[in-house]
Amino acid sequence: MRTVVKIGTSTLAHATGHLNIRRVEEICKIISDIKNAGHEIIMVSSGAIGMGVGKLGLPGRPNDIPTKQASAAVGQCELMYVYDKLFSEYNHTVGQLLITGADIESETRHNNFSNTLSRLLELGAIPIINENDTVATDEIVIGDNDTLAAIVAKSVKADLLVLLSDIDGLYTADPHKNPDAKLIQEVNEVSAEIYELASGKGSELGTGGMVTKLNAAKICLESGCQMVITNGDHPENLYSIIDGESVGTRFIAK
Ligand code: GLU
Repeated sequence: MRTVVKIGTSTLAHATGHLNIRRVEEICKIISDIKNAGHEIIMVSSGAIGMGVGKLGLPGRPNDIPTKQASAAVGQCELMYVYDKLFSEYNHTVGQLLITGADIESETRHNNFSNTLSRLLELGAIPIINENDTVATDEIVIGDNDTLAAIVAKSVKADLLVLLSDIDGLYTADPHKNPDAKLIQEVNEVSAEIYELASGKGSELGTGGMVTKLNAAKICLESGCQMVITNGDHPENLYSIIDGESVGTRFIAK
């Protein structure tokens, strides 16, 4: 089974922008174990800008492009250093791929990217992908890693995309505001009614929200890939999700 796991900034970093060490250690251990059991794993990791903010000691997520890009340059380096170190403990090798929207739009570059991904998998490495935030400006940006992860899942014909987020899944209403909101366990079509359940943006340091997750689900369902939104606070749920058990919200075409 081929699974793409997307890790959001809120899962990786504390609100300060500094690394959530316990969480990241858990995730790397679980992913290593799942890989040892014979599954193929590709990671899409956010957190470059968030961690750069922490490392540079900035007061919050910057609004101007050069500071954002500088934060990404610092944070991406830190991210890969941490992944390399933690996965090495379990004898796994990581490879970094940074892309922008222009790499997806150009057929040649998209093919190059897919070929590199496939070869990394054949070689037994764990590809770790992020948007190349140091050069991505408005014109060429994919913009959020939920969409990026779905594009990746489609490119490599993955069976499953798991979005590790700061929310348990899709609810019938915003659970932060409405205590009666209920978790929806399965969605078969990303319809207009489903979009109505999603509201704006998620965390302070990341980019995505429920809308970007639904956009991702649409891409996945169209390409025959299942998608699960689950809370990154409990990365051990990855085991059950890969086994097809009901955790979070599963998007599955009927
Ligand atoms: N590429 C951004 C980063 O690494 C994150 C985008 C997102 O949060 O969706 O900081």
